[in-house]
Amino acid sequence: MATRPRRIGILGGTFNPVHIAHLRGALEVAEFMELDELRLIPSARPPHRDTPQASAEQRLEMVRLAVEGETRLTVDDRELRRDKPSFTIDTLESVRAELGKDDQVFLILGWDAFCGLPGWHRWQELLEHSHILVLQRPDADSEAPEALRDVIAARNVIDPLTLAGPGGQISFIWQTPLAVSATQVRQLLGEGRSVRYLVPDAVLTYIQTHGLYRAQTDS
Ligand code: ATP
Repeated sequence: MATRPRRIGILGGTFNPVHIAHLRGALEVAEFMELDELRLIPSARPPHRDTPQASAEQRLEMVRLAVEGETRLTVDDRELRRDKPSFTIDTLESVRAELGKDDQVFLILGWDAFCGLPGWHRWQELLEHSHILVLQRPDADSEAPEALRDVIAARNVIDPLTLAGPGGQISFIWQTPLAVSATQVRQLLGEGRSVRYLVPDAVLTYIQTHGLYRAQTDS
């Protein structure tokens, strides 16, 4: 009996820490796109070295706590299980290898991440393995870089619900605009201020219990 192709969303990030814009965006995409599953994939290498850090295990644990009880959102720790940092293309290839050839993969990128694509390792191959869904981000610049113009012109599909086949197309998707960033969350915590309602309560409790992102004191 023929089964319908699966629809899998992927949202990678440092999640340092995970916050409501990640989660609300992910849930809205999962619902709107009727995904079978949307996987949050924490990356092994946090790019920020200038602020107090959470370990990879702590970032992963916060994502796990954040999605608990929400069956559409899952956590995939494959990038943390590798012994070296993964490029997104490696992750997509590895996810693809576990799926059927007709299954659809949707790589979800915030606008800022999308604009940074031309700097990513083998970025042009990403569309061989997945579609790309771009989330607008209210706190980001609005112009796409020159290097992306041709690919947008060639691959853009206006209605994300009409993205066809396993991959290869780009669509821009609306979600409730939330100008929250992990940088803001870390800054507030570093200043000893509250991040309540910017992160789920379970994540807040974890941050407090483990004393994460507090300003370093030389005592
Ligand atoms: P930081 O402030 O530390 O750079 P961040 O808040 O951008 O972190 P990431 O973990 O780097 O969070 O983001 C993971 C993905 O989620 C990226 O594709 C990013 O563009 C997207 N994203 C993060 N915040 C938002 C937001 N407020 N609206 C839409 N997309 C977002």
